[in-house]
Amino acid sequence: MRTITMEELMNYAKNYGFVYQGSEIYGGLANTWDYGPLGVLLKQNIKTSWWKKFIQENRLNVGLDSSILLNPKTWEASGHIGGFSDPLIDCKACNTRHRADKLIEDASHGEIIADGWSNEQMVDYMTKHHITCPNCDSEDFTDIRQFNLMFKTSQGVIEDSHSDIYLRPETAQGIFLNFKNIQRSSRLKVPFGIGQVGKSFRNEITPGNFIFRTREFEQLELEFFCKPNTELEWFDYWKNYSFNFLKTLGINSKNIRMRDHKKAQLSHYSNATTDIEYHYAWGFDELWGIASRTDYDLKQHQTFSSQNLMYHDPDDNTKYLPYVIEPSLGVERLFLAILNEAYKDEILDDGETRINLQIAPFLAPYSVAVLPLIKKYHGDKAKEMFDFLSSNFSTTYDERGKIGKRYRRQDAIGTPFVLTVDDDGVRDEAFTLRERDSMEQITLKKDELIPYLNKKLQY
Ligand code: ATP
Repeated sequence: MRTITMEELMNYAKNYGFVYQGSEIYGGLANTWDYGPLGVLLKQNIKTSWWKKFIQENRLNVGLDSSILLNPKTWEASGHIGGFSDPLIDCKACNTRHRADKLIEDASHGEIIADGWSNEQMVDYMTKHHITCPNCDSEDFTDIRQFNLMFKTSQGVIEDSHSDIYLRPETAQGIFLNFKNIQRSSRLKVPFGIGQVGKSFRNEITPGNFIFRTREFEQLELEFFCKPNTELEWFDYWKNYSFNFLKTLGINSKNIRMRDHKKAQLSHYSNATTDIEYHYAWGFDELWGIASRTDYDLKQHQTFSSQNLMYHDPDDNTKYLPYVIEPSLGVERLFLAILNEAYKDEILDDGETRINLQIAPFLAPYSVAVLPLIKKYHGDKAKEMFDFLSSNFSTTYDERGKIGKRYRRQDAIGTPFVLTVDDDGVRDEAFTLRERDSMEQITLKKDELIPYLNKKLQY
């Protein structure tokens, strides 16, 4: 067994129908990606698992689906219009664009995190340490300018400054705007959380590393509201909760590390932040940001909207703005980690090789594949079995080619169970069920199949 390179993973993802380059027939649109028949299923299963763990199974949390377009005042209040920017620097020799903080981070092999540094601090560091352009090795850079990452567009028929509107760069603000609505309509008592899954957009300076950093992506966000002074306990709670969730998804804890932000790196509104990093093909990088955001967001929205967002605590008859813990995860970054973790090249006992996508059964794009041993004799019964199983499970059907090759294809896309229909199936409704990792086969009668698979596909 060996680790897969990024290029191999991209080819694999394309060849089997997980991820294609966006707008490919027009020569592509840089750093956009489309999710094919298997990718859309895997993404869906990731989102469903998160929802199950963070909303369904946690009695303190509820869900929301807010708009992508929000009143532009939202972004003034949240600080995104003034401060949601990255330090842009150009190489004068080859005209490539870079993020100054990332140049520093990469040159110091991750030792120095320049998040929150002033432009002067970054320039000083780059000059002193002779940081060069990764493209052409020149040290001749322009000054650093702050580049706002929000996508701006106009709403309605008249284009002027009054019609400016933004694509949301995070789903979180939609949650803050609905804090009062949800608290009242659901009669919630603090502490409680609101979770949301949805698209976000950032005009990244240096997108790349396949689906790791893109301009359009999906987020799984929870805003957890708690009483002031209890926030650091909840911060630890959500850090552990998130770490355990990754383990349930089959991510090896050796490949995860928690990076606590040092005091000087903390955003001005945060009193604790930890990035959960995953060991991607290029090294450890951010998978999940967990931040204790104090009462900053609610306070800002209260000021800018002139609405009272205070919470009246019936337990001790006090009024306060709740503090917030935010675990914020990118679907695509988790997708990439899961594929990286699950992909295995195996040499079997008979010397043959197979790709085995050893993904947790509940995440697999297809839970079960139905294969007739010989299409001519067993095809009708196999189609009947597809209909029977597909109303309960994500099911695929394949009747083309040699049976061994068809097994290999299912292994390669991670299908945990394959049901083969042969003479016994046609005659007695007795079917062979093959398990992906052990390749062991058992025989089950039709009425045993659904309970058996249900048990195996739980997480
Ligand atoms: P980075 O430092 O990598 O730019 P960030 O700290 O700006 O990320 P957050 O604002 O904390 O990211 O966003 C929360 C999560 O959303 C990230 O941990 C990541 O999983 C995801 N995310 C953020 N930006 C992108 C992007 N451009 N492409 C894909 N996922 C993203």
